[in-house]
Amino acid sequence: MTTAFEVTATDGAARAGVLHTAHGDVPTPAFMPVGTKGTVKGVDPDELREVGASIVLGNSYHLHFKPGEDVVAGLGGLHGFMGWGGPILTDSGGFQVFSLRDTLLAMDDGGVTFRSLYDGTPERFTPELAAEIQAKLGSDIAMCLDVCPPSGVPRAELEEATRLTAVWAARQRAAPRADGQLLFGIAQGGSDPELRRRSIEETVALDFDGHALGGLSVGETRERMFDTVGWAAPLLPAAKARYFMGIGDPEGIVEVIERGIDMFDCVLPTRLGRTGTALSWEGRLNLKNARFRDDPRPLDEGCDCAACRRFSRAYVRHLVKQHEMLGPRLLTVHNLRFLLRLTADARAAIERGELASFKADVLARLAQEPAEPAWRF
Ligand SMILES: [Zn+2]
Repeated sequence: MTTAFEVTATDGAARAGVLHTAHGDVPTPAFMPVGTKGTVKGVDPDELREVGASIVLGNSYHLHFKPGEDVVAGLGGLHGFMGWGGPILTDSGGFQVFSLRDTLLAMDDGGVTFRSLYDGTPERFTPELAAEIQAKLGSDIAMCLDVCPPSGVPRAELEEATRLTAVWAARQRAAPRADGQLLFGIAQGGSDPELRRRSIEETVALDFDGHALGGLSVGETRERMFDTVGWAAPLLPAAKARYFMGIGDPEGIVEVIERGIDMFDCVLPTRLGRTGTALSWEGRLNLKNARFRDDPRPLDEGCDCAACRRFSRAYVRHLVKQHEMLGPRLLTVHNLRFLLRLTADARAAIERGELASFKADVLARLAQEPAEPAWRF
């Protein structure tokens, strides 16, 4: 196999490229819709294609417990099981283990012990198990098991998280994987310059197929997060893909793309959709608001999604208010299309060498948008 990633255009620190996987190419920058339990909630694979998704996420933690990787493997791997023939990236489960901090029991050089979210029984994840789960799921890109502490932990805890992440990465790097499966390492270290640099050096030394910045978008300020990405992304090798874990609001997307990030994911568009909110160039629209009761306009006037082509805000509001399942589905399809189109437009702007003006235009148009923290769950 040739190299997994090619940079095809640059504009300042920003890059356009192509990530080659066993199930197809991913044009980058790429927004990756989150399909935690083997489904992007409420959206079928044909609709994912239609909104422009080229890769989706699955989650090892949840799929390990329900229905179990052996069941998935027996039904054609995650691609066959969920009916999506395109590229899939699987999270290792580390983020779920460490974000549910009151379920943590112990961690050491061998792995982490925690209580299962599903039934409270003690379970143990090791780098070898993270590799085995992802090999059986058959994802195109597997992620390393890492230690992801929230923002604001004592420096000693952040340092130990960084150390364990490196120890585990070396073990997972040596573990078997599925044919053609890429493996990405994850650098931790929060916003601490020394620890982040050390983690990047230790990760890069293991020669992974791509690199992720983990441990950001975990409660620090937006300013600190963007500042950290700004100096940390260029420390990652230019010839390999760079993945920022857990950002997906329109403003955040253009900010990380400008700083040299190629891939990102977030539950924001799907979660907002399920709670009755549409992304738009007028800011976020809460469809429960009475002002939409007789609004004949589409969710966003410039949007070409299946919801905006056919339905009014008034109709979507009616569906949401009446708890009709079509309402959240239409909003989810629309929100995904909004972000995937924004990302594709950013890629085209990089190719034209016009990202700076594109970004300025996006931020001006989004000026009504409240600056909320990025979400990742
Ligand atoms: Zn739309």
